[in-house]
Amino acid sequence: MTWIGTSWKMNKTLAEARAFADGLVAARSALDGVRAFVIPAHTAIAAVRERLPSDLPVLIGAQNAHWEPAGAYTGEVSMGMIADAGATLVEIGHSERRQHFGETDDTVALKVAAAVATGLTPLLCVGEPAGVRAAGGEIGWVAGQASRGLSRLPPHDLHKVVVAYEPVWAIGDRGREPLPHEIAPVMGMLAARFGPDAHDGVAAVLYGGSVNRLNAAALLGVPGTDGLFVGRAAWDVAGFVELVRIAARARHAGWRNAG
Ligand code: PEP
Repeated sequence: MTWIGTSWKMNKTLAEARAFADGLVAARSALDGVRAFVIPAHTAIAAVRERLPSDLPVLIGAQNAHWEPAGAYTGEVSMGMIADAGATLVEIGHSERRQHFGETDDTVALKVAAAVATGLTPLLCVGEPAGVRAAGGEIGWVAGQASRGLSRLPPHDLHKVVVAYEPVWAIGDRGREPLPHEIAPVMGMLAARFGPDAHDGVAAVLYGGSVNRLNAAALLGVPGTDGLFVGRAAWDVAGFVELVRIAARARHAGWRNAG
């Protein structure tokens, strides 16, 4: 099944989060056959959970959580706390957290393991900065980040993880839209080494970074791509639902990510 999800980053009031949730309910029929997820700020997780009927096929995530179950970590929340608020998924290692909040491969690995131990699906983000790509080092960089991020999990737990390839140079409003052939070698490597068809593979490998309604179908068609992880183009519920429809059509077209 094709995955399609969005993280709202540090955006949306409770009222805005509830309005987005109401838009998802109104578009219920579009959600069949795709694995949709929404990742609000921590403040809005419970409100979105309460607003969505439990049978609506949309997963709710958190953008981060600490690896310790409790304690003197002012300003942090635990995996158990986000699960209690309604999350079943947790984003880990987004490049903005690596860049601005000192996230390292070590803390990422601790968080991935803590998420699985709590029964959450870790969404492990990996991706090379522009300089690494300019030097042609993206395959090794991304493979290293993925294997270090997964290093604290026993092989039999790897199927509980989703990996998102998010090249830093493609993310956000200063990002550059990628061409499919630019991401294909990395997606191919991730699929072959870590993907659902690999031995002890993860559940899915997603692509994220400057996805929009015009490039989504082509990016979904890159071999090894099980879905898309979207920022700006999906913050408006109509934009998200349009991307969901594109992902559903891609599935009907019989691409590899048909599930
Ligand atoms: C992101 O920041 O993870 C992301 C995918 O953002 P955007 O789609 O806005 O580039």
